[in-house]
Amino acid sequence: MRTFILTITQLVVSVPLLFGLGCSDPGTPQQASQPVQVEQPGKGSVEHIRQVTLAVDDEALRNADANQGDWLTYGRNYKEDRYSELDQIGKHNLNQLGLAWTIELGSRRGLQATPLVVDGIMFFSGTWSVVYAVDARKGEIIWKYDPQVPRETAAKLCCGVVNRGVALYKGSVFVGTLDGRLVSIDAATGSLNWEVKTVPDNTFYTITGAPRVANGKVLIGNGGAELKNIRGYVTAYDAETGEQTWRFYTVPGNPAEPFEHPDLEQAAKTWTGEWWTKGGGGTAWDSIVYDPELNLVYIGVGNGSPWNRLERSPEGGDNLYLSSIVAVKADTGEYVWHYQTTPGDTWDYTATQPMILADLEIEGKPRNVLMQAPKNGFFYVLDRVTGEFISAEAYTYVNWAKGIDSNGRPIEVAGARYEDGRMHWISPSSHGGHNWFPMSYNRKTGMAYLPGVEKSGAYVHDINKAPGDRYAGSSPRKLYYDVVYDQHPDAHKPGAVDGRLFAYDPLKQQVVWEVPQKFFYNGGLLSTANGLLFQGDAEGKFSIRDVDDGRVLWQYDVLTGVIGSPITYMVDGEQYVSLLVEWGGGQGQYRKVVDRLYTGKLYTFKLGGNAPAPERLPPIEKPLLTLTTDASPLEIGRGYNVYMYNCAGCHNPLGGGGGAIPDLVRINEGMFAILDKIVLEGALASVGMPNFGDWLNGAQVEDLKSFLLYAAEAFRTGMPAGEYRAQLSKMQELADTPQGK
Ligand code: CA
Repeated sequence: MRTFILTITQLVVSVPLLFGLGCSDPGTPQQASQPVQVEQPGKGSVEHIRQVTLAVDDEALRNADANQGDWLTYGRNYKEDRYSELDQIGKHNLNQLGLAWTIELGSRRGLQATPLVVDGIMFFSGTWSVVYAVDARKGEIIWKYDPQVPRETAAKLCCGVVNRGVALYKGSVFVGTLDGRLVSIDAATGSLNWEVKTVPDNTFYTITGAPRVANGKVLIGNGGAELKNIRGYVTAYDAETGEQTWRFYTVPGNPAEPFEHPDLEQAAKTWTGEWWTKGGGGTAWDSIVYDPELNLVYIGVGNGSPWNRLERSPEGGDNLYLSSIVAVKADTGEYVWHYQTTPGDTWDYTATQPMILADLEIEGKPRNVLMQAPKNGFFYVLDRVTGEFISAEAYTYVNWAKGIDSNGRPIEVAGARYEDGRMHWISPSSHGGHNWFPMSYNRKTGMAYLPGVEKSGAYVHDINKAPGDRYAGSSPRKLYYDVVYDQHPDAHKPGAVDGRLFAYDPLKQQVVWEVPQKFFYNGGLLSTANGLLFQGDAEGKFSIRDVDDGRVLWQYDVLTGVIGSPITYMVDGEQYVSLLVEWGGGQGQYRKVVDRLYTGKLYTFKLGGNAPAPERLPPIEKPLLTLTTDASPLEIGRGYNVYMYNCAGCHNPLGGGGGAIPDLVRINEGMFAILDKIVLEGALASVGMPNFGDWLNGAQVEDLKSFLLYAAEAFRTGMPAGEYRAQLSKMQELADTPQGK
């Protein structure tokens, strides 16, 4: 006790000098002999933050539902249902709901996080894994912790330099960094407690997901299965010390070596060939849910790497535990059960999507269930005690499987595995019918609400993969592949891109209502007991809808696309709603549906709020490059290959104006002139454009420039899309002949 008080005393003296912001009421330094005064420190002061965050212990996390005023963990509670019983804001007074304050964050690459709040002190993560503490009473930043992620890490990310959230436990804030560290920060001061590297050096592992806390351990997964030689795992670290407690591998390694845990011996029997030389995939990059009732941790496991089973397990097999939900003991990481949503995944159908725990009555019996709408298009209800399959139906258009049989196994459609070397259109696409954007389960209505995707994707067994190719996916990169629609007659045709917000009845296994959304990349959901459904969307609107029919009841123009998830909480008797707003992330990198992107902001609303709205600025349209080229078709074809295999992951498609990162045919001439310095020497590495010097040479950059000028001219002169594709297809085919290479 004595030590604790002294620590506070030291911090009270030093922190206002160090941080200045938001610590306007640090109080009088406490004497060690006056511990009673610590109990009522000035709100927002270091001692207040220390006191309220230290109180976030196992019991507080387990009892999050009895504490509706705070938002203590990623999904609000251990059920992760994003359901709030706060009712000060209701349908009757939405006309009084207004902006309380905004905070300008200045970042430009996407805010995906769900903030946490305890007694009006908010914690969240931003771009480049930076963590913020905010005083929600004043709308001021208290501290900011920058883990200094090396900017070249951007080359290892499929989906932007984003982060989805932090964890809070006993006075510490935990964040997983893009470059694979788990960092513990003192919640009161923003200073580093400890950090631990959770991934091997010089690999493609990255972290964008939120850590979870279970019984004094911090759980963290990783991502990277779109790139080479990645084998997924989840690690538990002691929250106090950062020491590793256990690690669970989601796919087996080389069977000639000892298996890290005994269940992997069984899992290895479902793999063929030399899968371990390619990693196998199975990264757990988002959903990891702790169940205190059963003391289990459910791990949502990702897709295979490479995507195509033919390339990683050529004789077939289910490839456990890809695309599975795996339950392990929280204290030891020992395997308990698994359920595989997509056996032998070959479509990037991850089961990393958010899982929600609920206690439902099914056929007259109470069941402890786990619900998930993974990418594969089926909504699953499982018994979370045993892993037993209860039910699943398609929640979106699906053409890879006819349904799920009574054993819980998909009934696959012939040809859906695209093993014939032609290009197939499959639904859902690799974006899934639903991706990581959190759903909400409303205990009152019994409905799940989901940000959905209505989209097909092209897949091909790419026979032209180059040995040095970093990409492990199956999206076609050759324009001359044959397109196969015949076996999948209802597939959405190219260009059909759609979002949908929908309500789903998990008991009846059916969609209850749905509303179309312009673009399929929209923020996560929150629902309340009094019938409100909150969501920010790609069109820059923050909406409150009626849970019963999806009708918009209230809307606020936040100017730019939203990929964060809203929260609600109480501060000093007032209900607040907060949302991070900044476009970016996977799709947001290269597309947008607003006329201009704005820097990141934290928006907060309350009844009677009347803060000024951020100013709307004129649209920005960058002109196409006007330089011309006399490059040969062969050079342009080679340049198109350079673009597709190196640049397209973040800069595709060309011409549309780009998203959070530039459209390469609309960069200015000065930038174009130094493209070799940017690509080969990392001239823009500080802003996140990685140095590709290890992968490309000067001649390839010249070819790339020829292609970009060809494309810019085609767009400028209004060449019909069909003709552009046909010409480019011929040039690419020319480049792929033995002479062309
Ligand atoms: Ca993936």
